[in-house]
Amino acid sequence: MFKKTIKNVDVAGKKCLVRCDFNVPMSGGEITDDTRIVAALPTIKYLIEHGAKVILCSHLGRPKGEFNLKYSLKPVAARLSTLLNTNVVFATDVIGEDATNKVGALKDGQVLLLENLRFHKEEEANDQEFCRSLSKFCDIYVNDAFGTAHRAHASTAGIVTYGFAPVAVAGFLIAKELESLDKVLDNPRRPLVAILGGAKVSDKIGVINNLLDKADTILIGGGMAYTFLRAKGIQIGKSLCEEDKLPLAKELIAKADERRVKLLLPIDAVVTQSFPDPIDADVPSKQVMINEIDNDSMALDIGDETVKLFKKEIESAGTVVWNGPMGVFENPNFAKGTREIAWALAGSNCISVVGGGDSAAAVQQMEVGDKITHISTGGGASLEYLEGKVLPGIACLNNN
Ligand code: AMP
Repeated sequence: MFKKTIKNVDVAGKKCLVRCDFNVPMSGGEITDDTRIVAALPTIKYLIEHGAKVILCSHLGRPKGEFNLKYSLKPVAARLSTLLNTNVVFATDVIGEDATNKVGALKDGQVLLLENLRFHKEEEANDQEFCRSLSKFCDIYVNDAFGTAHRAHASTAGIVTYGFAPVAVAGFLIAKELESLDKVLDNPRRPLVAILGGAKVSDKIGVINNLLDKADTILIGGGMAYTFLRAKGIQIGKSLCEEDKLPLAKELIAKADERRVKLLLPIDAVVTQSFPDPIDADVPSKQVMINEIDNDSMALDIGDETVKLFKKEIESAGTVVWNGPMGVFENPNFAKGTREIAWALAGSNCISVVGGGDSAAAVQQMEVGDKITHISTGGGASLEYLEGKVLPGIACLNNN
């Protein structure tokens, strides 16, 4: 690890301000999925066991800079108390009187959760005075929120970059993310196969570009495949096509050729006449070879022959990184390609890393999450990391 973690510093008796990702789905004031809370427990437990004063902070939803009970973190404090089997003190404000008094009364090994950071517009604006106020609760800054590490907000980076928190380290969750993603980017077990899908080429240009320098094979599925196929002169009917990205798609195909990276596109597809509305509506569909897509059809999933082709690459891979579904997996008629790829990944002996967002949701939906080496907790953050970008929430941490 090129960044210090909580294990590299003495936390005993120190106020440790831990930026967590408690942005959990809620319904009627109830937490409907506590995965993100559970994922933060190892760091919190370590800090408790090592006698730190643990001050947790997070955002929840988009309250737009003002108090809104709907986005209160109070239910998270209650869930944390249950999971940790200890009382987690809840502060009803972020930098106000209640937080100040409760932090002041905190004993070593006790845990407190501040109210939603985004009740202050200064959080996302990375306001210097807000950072200064937050830093009163911080002898040691710990970032464990990978999902927001690509944002330069007050609690994710500003508190450190403004110089208010000289000791800044990673929690276990971020450390695991970096170790797993670095396994793909630096010296991976070869062959390294990248599977890219999802809706648009434009969202993944950076990733494709960076992986063209690192991967042995790139498999392209999902909506973005059709811009590449069109660039190769194939008729794609009404399938997704970003006309303005055709020259770029041609360039990427040429670059792959030049670097001897095997770039594979779908050879068959599941097509329909119009996009399902609602998205899970039962619409007629059929499989066709890729050069048989007629003008009235759109391709919404990869076909069986493509699955076979992609599976062969996965089976012989040393490392696989996957970002983006192979089709409109929200609809059962177009979920098979994504499901087959998830199962192939789960059954292979390779190191498998799934990069957040829709692909992570797909893997969980297929119930193979426990067979994947690492599922990233940050969609946007993992995408930017795979692009080779510097993430502000990581860059600000002390080097090892
Ligand atoms: P992204 O956020 O870019 O990873 O895109 C995920 C979305 O891409 C999902 O909601 C899918 O429904 C959509 N998608 C995948 N394949 C296709 C396709 N062939 N045509 C249209 N949308 C697609």
